[in-house]
Amino acid sequence: MRLKDKTILVTAAGQGIGHASAIACAREGAKVYAADINEETLSTLPGECPGIEIHKLDVCDRAAVDALAKKLPALDGLFNCAGFVHNGSVLDITEDDWAFSFELNVTSMYRMTQAFLPGMRERAKVTGTASILNMSSMASSIKGFPMRTAYGATKAAVIGLTKGVAADFVKEGIRCNALCPGTVDTPSLRGRIASAPDPVEAEKNFIARQPMGRLATVDDMTPMIVYLLSDESRFVSGQALLVDGGVTI
Ligand code: NAD
Repeated sequence: MRLKDKTILVTAAGQGIGHASAIACAREGAKVYAADINEETLSTLPGECPGIEIHKLDVCDRAAVDALAKKLPALDGLFNCAGFVHNGSVLDITEDDWAFSFELNVTSMYRMTQAFLPGMRERAKVTGTASILNMSSMASSIKGFPMRTAYGATKAAVIGLTKGVAADFVKEGIRCNALCPGTVDTPSLRGRIASAPDPVEAEKNFIARQPMGRLATVDDMTPMIVYLLSDESRFVSGQALLVDGGVTI
């Protein structure tokens, strides 16, 4: 059990990578608090694996985030997974699109970290360590992709946020890392494919940019997520870790 006795909060746990991560962490012995804005998709989780408690949470709602931080015990692990993909070039992005992308993809992580870090610091005084994992992407400061300017800018900012938190709290045993996946087959990716003018072509293009010749599954992501939230990664902090099927070779 790689996460035995750990308490871990996962956002965006209703579907996709967050959902799979909540299950993977619970299977490794963690007590998992699974949060999402969508209560309906969250509701299946406790039946899928013991050790998961669900909480409706909008990570953009400061009062709700603070209230949850008061309600939960101090965390050993925080996985800030919530995020949104804006599709468009710089000429297509409205002020509202830009603001929303930063609000959900970056500001929510600052907010969650500010709310939960005090408890994690106390916890780290007892256990020696606690881990924050922020969801970034290969589409960030690492690599540019067509029609992903707002998204890439937010995910680059996530790496900056991650390094700042890592630098400030490294001496207290708090680690903070960013995960940078390739293209992962999740409900929102299926939505992006379905809403393309030619969905068959769109799927082909998503696969073509993956040198391994296939999309990632959520289960390609969870081993790295469990590792980064576990003590196995105790000497790793401030890093942006790519799990991208070779895109950035
Ligand atoms: P998804 O996009 O299919 O699901 C996102 C989940 O976030 C949903 O359950 C939704 O209800 C929840 N959510 C949305 N707004 C929220 C809010 N305000 N508060 C709380 N929850 C909210 O899942 P995914 O594709 O696995 O993406 C998860 C994360 O991984 C995102 O940050 C995304 O940018 C990142 N990512 C995804 C891919 C990919 O190819 N799928 C690649 C790299 C990074």
